[in-house]
Amino acid sequence: MSKIQNANNYKKIIIILFLMILIVITCKNKYDSLISDFESEAKAKEAMINRHIDLSNSFIDSLAIYGNNYFKQKEHIDSELYNYLEYDSTSNTYNLDAIAGTEYQNNVGSLTGQGPIQESGLYRDEINLALGYNQYFNSLYKLMPDVAWLYYTSENNFINIYPWISSKDFSYTDELQKTEFYTYVTPQNNPLRKALWTPVYLDQAGKGLMVSLSSPIYSYNTFMGVISLDLTNVMLSEMIASKYEIYLIDSTDSIIATSRNIKFDKEVIKLNALLDASQDEMNQLKEAENKILRLKDYYIYSFDFNNAPWKMYLRVSVWSIIYQSILFTLPLLLICIFLLFTIFEIEKRKRAEAQLTNSLEELQSYQTLLENAAKFDFLTSTYNRRGFKQAFDKTVTANTADKTPISFILGDIDHFKDFNDTYGHAAGDKVLIEIATLMKSNNSDDDLVCRWGGEEFLIMLYNKTYEEAKFFAEDIRRQIEAVVIPWDNSKVLKVTMTFGVTEYDYDGSYETSISEADSALYIGKFKGRNQVIIYQSLMAHEQILRYEW
Ligand code: GH3
Ligand code: MG
Ligand code: MG
Repeated sequence: MSKIQNANNYKKIIIILFLMILIVITCKNKYDSLISDFESEAKAKEAMINRHIDLSNSFIDSLAIYGNNYFKQKEHIDSELYNYLEYDSTSNTYNLDAIAGTEYQNNVGSLTGQGPIQESGLYRDEINLALGYNQYFNSLYKLMPDVAWLYYTSENNFINIYPWISSKDFSYTDELQKTEFYTYVTPQNNPLRKALWTPVYLDQAGKGLMVSLSSPIYSYNTFMGVISLDLTNVMLSEMIASKYEIYLIDSTDSIIATSRNIKFDKEVIKLNALLDASQDEMNQLKEAENKILRLKDYYIYSFDFNNAPWKMYLRVSVWSIIYQSILFTLPLLLICIFLLFTIFEIEKRKRAEAQLTNSLEELQSYQTLLENAAKFDFLTSTYNRRGFKQAFDKTVTANTADKTPISFILGDIDHFKDFNDTYGHAAGDKVLIEIATLMKSNNSDDDLVCRWGGEEFLIMLYNKTYEEAKFFAEDIRRQIEAVVIPWDNSKVLKVTMTFGVTEYDYDGSYETSISEADSALYIGKFKGRNQVIIYQSLMAHEQILRYEW
């Protein structure tokens, strides 16, 4: 595996690790924020219930003070409602039904009682107190419209209940004095005359399960009656409605209200029965105090209220939090998968591109090789005939206008056949390479060297007349003569070369020039080899000879 591939793999591992950490952190953050949401909700619900408890307590306390003081006053003025009370002799009861349809109906309670209306004394004062409570009932009801009933129940067998309800639907019965809201605060049960919250009980006036806050009213030491307000299961349940499980329970562990959509307005239910929890679990539940506690598969938050003997439990399943955290992280996870997929795809494409580039480069080098093979000689790397002709044509085209002199030198190694026979073909090849190198090193950039045939080389000299070319050829000839090539340890190789020189005629042809150089070379061989013959000199000599003849 190459270094680049290794680096790429490390990069991928780092990216995957980074994305994994990102996902885990996001998931964990969401998890924590869900728990803190849960805690905030718990605190909000606690505050809401507390407000209702406190308002209820202060209201009942002030009505109790008002009532107790009322009996200490010397004179009592009749309530304007007093005259609306009607006695029904057949049932021996009295009621305030006459108020129906008048301006009072929406602001007063319904007063019903047993026996004839007492026209004087403490009893009459008490009825006036009960009627006087109406204005306070009215204003609290505006403040806490969730309160079910506000009422004063008298030891003298009457009740004033707010809001107004026809005596046909609800009127005083002896049962009322046996109900929790009353019995809880009677002198035997509540000698300290405190305001007390009852446990959950079933309402006699049909409003389902409820709890009452009651306070006794005394005229000095005579117990007169009870002032109460009711908070219903329905109202409190609406108040604590939540996506979490919330249970509000009384001092007997009975459920006052729950956020769960469970209808139980017919009977009182204990929390352990609803949760199907063991005593152990219940005890654990009670241990949780104003902080989140993990119990088995649940986070639980619980608290007590200062002014009511109640507890509130909130509970959320750990699995639902995990599920929501994962659900929240899912889009990020998908993006990461997509990102990784894209990275791998890009990687793959890059590799394919690199392979393609390699193949292209290979192809190009093959092409160059082929082109070179077409233009150059394989053994000596000088031009072959074809390459030489192309280069020569270019030079000629560029210089036709000013006719820059161009000369040719054609060289042929002397007795090379014998040389090969003596030293072998490999030695011959070595000599050919050395001679080519030597020729190229003597050339300027504009000159051309070509392996014309087996052991023949053709040189084109740019910007040189045949006279200058002669010196050049002579120089090369001498250098070759002087070259000693070490061979086969003890042996050395030496050769000589014969040259024919001619100058290119811009009005003539390439072939003519070559053949002129060849003719000069032939004469050189003829004259004993290892020498330079100039074609132009030969011609001059021939003319002289002709002239002499
Ligand atoms: P001379 O030119 O002096 O008349 O004699 P010569 O022996 O060189 O004669 P000729 O030019 O006829 O012989 C050419 C020889 O060059 C024949 C062949 O053995 C040799 N030759 C041609 N091409 C190569 C080559 O590529 N490598 C080797 N080692 N020898 C070559
Ligand atoms: Mg030859
Ligand atoms: Mg030869």
